[in-house]
This record gives sequence, structure tokens and C-alpha cells, in this order.
Amino acid sequence: MPVEQRRRLVTAVPGPRSIDLAARKAAAVADGVGTIVPAYVVEASGGIVVDADGNQLIDFGSGIAVTTVGNSAPAVVARVQQAVERFTHTCFMVTPYEGYVEVAERLAELTPGDHAKKTALFNSGAEAVENAIKIARVATGRSAVVCFDHAYHGRTNLTMALTAKDMPYKHGFGPFASEVYRTPMAYPYRWPGDPARVAEEAFEQFESQVHVQVGESQVAAVIIEPIQGEGGFIVPPDGFLPRLQRWCADHGAVLVADEIQTGFCRTGDWFACDHEGVVPDLITTAKGIAGGLPLAAVTGRAELMDAVHVGGLGGTYGGNPIACAAALGAIEEMETHDLTGRAREIEAIFRDRLGGIAARQPAIGDVRGRGAMMAIELVRPGSKDPDPVLTSAVARASHAQGLVVLTAGSFGNVLRFLPPLSISDELLHEGLDLIEQAFDKTAA
Ligand SMILES: *Cc1c(COP(=O)(O)O)cnc(C)c1O
Repeated sequence: MPVEQRRRLVTAVPGPRSIDLAARKAAAVADGVGTIVPAYVVEASGGIVVDADGNQLIDFGSGIAVTTVGNSAPAVVARVQQAVERFTHTCFMVTPYEGYVEVAERLAELTPGDHAKKTALFNSGAEAVENAIKIARVATGRSAVVCFDHAYHGRTNLTMALTAKDMPYKHGFGPFASEVYRTPMAYPYRWPGDPARVAEEAFEQFESQVHVQVGESQVAAVIIEPIQGEGGFIVPPDGFLPRLQRWCADHGAVLVADEIQTGFCRTGDWFACDHEGVVPDLITTAKGIAGGLPLAAVTGRAELMDAVHVGGLGGTYGGNPIACAAALGAIEEMETHDLTGRAREIEAIFRDRLGGIAARQPAIGDVRGRGAMMAIELVRPGSKDPDPVLTSAVARASHAQGLVVLTAGSFGNVLRFLPPLSISDELLHEGLDLIEQAFDKTAA
């Protein structure tokens, strides 16, 4: 059902109904599962999330970059309704169905590169990443995996090892998987060397650390988010990713692009790798792929994907028929509404408005991102010392005014903006007004 595209507060956020539900949550749900904005949702579409008290919140989070096409997007709803009435599950490995194959065909067309590609479907991003590493290891006969500072690849054992941040993702959950090696990320704002040579210097460090500590011939895979998500929307300068691609080709390693957060129109291209024409050997996708239903994929060079023995890839639910129907609906929405173009328009609005706010707020040290994946990094004025306290204060003040906004970053000092691409310009501007007011209220 379409929701009126207007912010409206009828109680405090959270209101009394949400507070009751939060008490039930506290009694029944593990405390380890946190909630960022404890307003319990009853409905959502476009740029609006409606809570149990009737508040209408502006959505700058998309459920962490998932509802790129908007919540309950019409083509997703139509295809899911048709599919769910026919059958809910057979397990593709038992008795297969067309939707899975069609999603694989669409991924082969849409992902970077025009080589022969194949796909395997899974349930979550972490599961896709684990399987990409399994495939790379079998295909190369090697075991080492190289990842980067500030990386986020998931919460399962192998993906925790690949993820950089201790709190909250890894703390106390070790021991972690072995044969994982971490090298510096090309992080322009915090690069200690020559600001004009970040891509070159970061690559030189990668090359030398791998040579000295791992050995080129031991590397099965290099895995990178082409724009880091949880790490704080760190955009490597042009030239870094192509250098990694060349290095992998020269040394027989598999380049895995983790596009779970950046994929499916989010950055203004179908995939963030398209920006520089980088063609990864394997690409992992999830989040935006299926309009909110759980689905993930590994897509890549046919000869790598086919290196694994029959029965070596799969899972009970991977490529569930309803999730596949949702993915085909989400891709239809992206194509019919030119959502790559819409992401670029959203970037222009954010750049202009955030630039204006940053000019008046010395706590904003950096404005960055691409497409509808924009962020600001908050520091103590006159320095680059991270200010996570101000960051959470601005986020909380925004939540109280009815704006769903998320934080990120290794130092907890990044506000990130991930609106659904179906949001109106009016709601974008109103959300940015609320950010501006939150700074005025909280910054000293
Ligand atoms: C969210 C995310 C994951 C993990 O996906 P889940 O579906 O939460 O398992 C992996 N990599 C990146 C880049 C992500 O943003």
C-alpha cells in the first residue's frame, strides 16, 4: 500500500507503542542483537518508514543499503505474490526451478566484464563471501587471502577474520580463521604519505607486504570492497583498484570484489567497479539484490566457478524461489526507473548540501562517497582526531526528529547516508535540513 511521502511526528521517537515493544524485545530477544532507532516499523515505502505509533520517518538507511528500489516496490511485490502462491521451497539442489537460473543469467549480463560467467546463490552476504573464498582456493590450489584495513565482509568465522573491526564485530568471538592477511587501504583522508600519491603508495605497501609476509605464489584471493561500507564509505582514489586487478592477473590470484553494499545502482553505476572499468574475477552481491528478501550471489569467471566439484556449493535455502522472484522484480525496477541515473542525481544533491553544511561546521573533516552512498567524517575542529561522541549525538538528534540515519567507520565517527533510490527530492532536502539542525543543536 503506498505510504504518503511526508515526514510526520505524532509522538516522541520512540513513542509509547514502540517502548512497549522494546520492553518485550528486552525480555525475549538476545541483548547482542541491538537496534539503532527503536521505532517499531509497521509499513514502509519510497522514502518513508511508518512506526507503530504512526510516526512517519524519513529513510536515509534503506535497511543498510538493501531497499535500494524502495520498500515493497511494486515489481517486487507483484512477482513475490505470484511466486509465493505457486510454491515456497523445493531446494534448488533437489528439484530445481527457473527463477534461480534466470537470476544467474541476469547477473552474468549485469556484472562487470563480458567474459563467460556463472553464478551460485546463497542467503546472506557473509555466506557469499565465504563461498567466493572457497571457490578461489579450489581454483588456485592456494590458501592465503589478502584483505584490507577498515574492511567489512560479515560475521561468520571466516568473514570475521576478513573484517577489520574488533568492536562490535569480532570482540571475544575468536579464534578466527587462519591464512588471512591485512594490508593498508587507500584511504585518502587519513593517508600518512603524499596526498597526491595515495593510490600508488597504498599499492606499493600492498605489493611489498604481500611479497615479504605472504609470498605471491601463496595468494588465492585478494578481496576488497570497491568503496568500503562499514569502514566509513572510504573511496580509494582512481588507480588503486586497477593496480590490484593487474597484480592479481600477473600473479595468478583471484580478485574478489565484495559489492554487497555498493552493488545494484547504489553508487550511480550497476556496480562500483564499473566506475573505472575494473573487471573482478569474482563478485559477491547481496543487500540491494532482491528488494529486501534474503538473497546473495557469487558471480564470476566460468572456469573459476566450475573448478569446484559437483555438490561442493549450495545450501538448503540458497536461491530460494521467492527471493529469486524478488530479485527479478528489483532488477526490473532498476531498469525501468533508471536507478543508476537517480543515484547520480542524489549524489549531486548530497554533495551540494553537505558541502554547504561542512563549510559552516568545522567538525566535518571530510565529505565523500559516490552516488547514493555518501558520508561525512566528524573530527575535533582543527585536527583529524575522530569525534565519535559528536557523531552519535548528531545521529540521535536526527532520529528524534524522524530521520533514520546510520553511523559507520573504524573510529565510529562517520555519518553515512544510504537513501532508497525511490525517495523524492523533497524528502532528501528535508532530511538534510534535519542533519543541519542536528549539528546546530549538538556541535559546541
Ligand atoms: C553487509 C555486508 C556483508 C555481509 O552481508 P550479510 O548479508 O550481513 O551477511 C559483507 N560485505 C559487505 C561489503 C557488506 O556491506
